[in-house]
Amino acid sequence: MSDKQMPFNKKQLEELSAKFPTPFIIYDEKAIRNNARNIYKAFSWVESFKNHFAVKACPNATILSILREEDMGVDCSSLPELLLSEKVGFKGEDIVFTSNNTPGEEFAAAARLGAVINLDDLGHIETLEKSAGIPELISFRYNPGETRTGNVLIGEPREAKYGVTRDQIIEAYRIMKTKGAKRFGLHTMVASNELEESCFTETARMLFELVVKLKQECGIKVEMINMGGGIGIPYHPDDKAVDLNNISRGIQELYRKVIVSEGLDPLKIVFECGRLVTGPHGYLVSRVRHVARKYKNYVGLDACMANLMRPGLYGAYHHITVAGKEGLPANNCYDVTGSLCENNDKFAIDRFLPEVEKDDLVVIHDAGAHGYAMGFNYNGKLRSAELLLNENGSAQLIRRAETIDDYFATMRFKNAPVVV
Ligand SMILES: *Cc1c(COP(=O)(O)O)cnc(C)c1O
Repeated sequence: MSDKQMPFNKKQLEELSAKFPTPFIIYDEKAIRNNARNIYKAFSWVESFKNHFAVKACPNATILSILREEDMGVDCSSLPELLLSEKVGFKGEDIVFTSNNTPGEEFAAAARLGAVINLDDLGHIETLEKSAGIPELISFRYNPGETRTGNVLIGEPREAKYGVTRDQIIEAYRIMKTKGAKRFGLHTMVASNELEESCFTETARMLFELVVKLKQECGIKVEMINMGGGIGIPYHPDDKAVDLNNISRGIQELYRKVIVSEGLDPLKIVFECGRLVTGPHGYLVSRVRHVARKYKNYVGLDACMANLMRPGLYGAYHHITVAGKEGLPANNCYDVTGSLCENNDKFAIDRFLPEVEKDDLVVIHDAGAHGYAMGFNYNGKLRSAELLLNENGSAQLIRRAETIDDYFATMRFKNAPVVV
């Protein structure tokens, strides 16, 4: 059971909302830094451990700078993500580029930055060779098919479009070796928001065994395994957070058994966790526009699905606190809804909360990853501001809210000059 705390109280939120209109998302810098340090501490036995933060989880320049200061790398999967990472100051192998249906120009950009290129398919080899040549270091994303099971969020590996299959993986490395690659990495991602610790030790076992096989069958010494992202966070108060020390210990045991005993150490181990790093430390703050009693009771917020898609998209649970009413009994049942003309625009269904009134401030927890990032402009909804709660307790704007002019900027109005 996790306790859903907030790093601010109602008074502070009211002061903030006087300056920055709701809805907005606010990230807790101190908690993010502490969290990053704990992740590195848990894996301190690994030689040159790194977490390559998945940019897609929270593509904000200030947050990425903080993570860079905490020694994280990045995981990118598009040209804009690569360029954002470059602007923030990430360089070379601190950047991993894992992508899907990738155009040559994206491989060329990744190669220019010296990123670790992680290929998703045998067909990528030709695209890469034509657009950027064969790099010295190459990695493949492995899809273990029916030998592993997935979950609701990521689906079964066998059904996934990602990665090179069991039948193809040895051949993939053989081809790259023949073409002149000298250094090799191995990547997989089979989990998403997974709270079962053994899932990650099983992934390590699978990759370690494949490292041994690659040595035996093609004489390749893999220097780095990438475990992907997917470590879950306790969205629901009844969920239990993973203990990274348990995962780390489990992996270390297998490392000794499989890698050290085969003389294959040192082997660098990296992750690409996004959600684990920033997820719990971003809060979506919204004001109650009205409370309606229809066939059910509705709380109508000034935020909507465009600010946080996960509940509407996956039926995901996000905890909700009514600011200033933390101590009151949660004895009113509501659907907490947004303002989109879309019936699944709900942050919560049948949620018990203290009695909610118009103008209450509502805080939606665990919006720090795959939250703002998934936003869109459907129904003319503008993306909100992002704020940072600094370590000294003050708050600053780290991305302004979109304006109507932003919304109009990409459209052509009749008789207006064509913007190319
Ligand atoms: C989405 C993604 C991640 C991050 O997932 P989290 O759930 O945020 O940890 C990492 N790697 C790849 C390849 C991804 O697609």
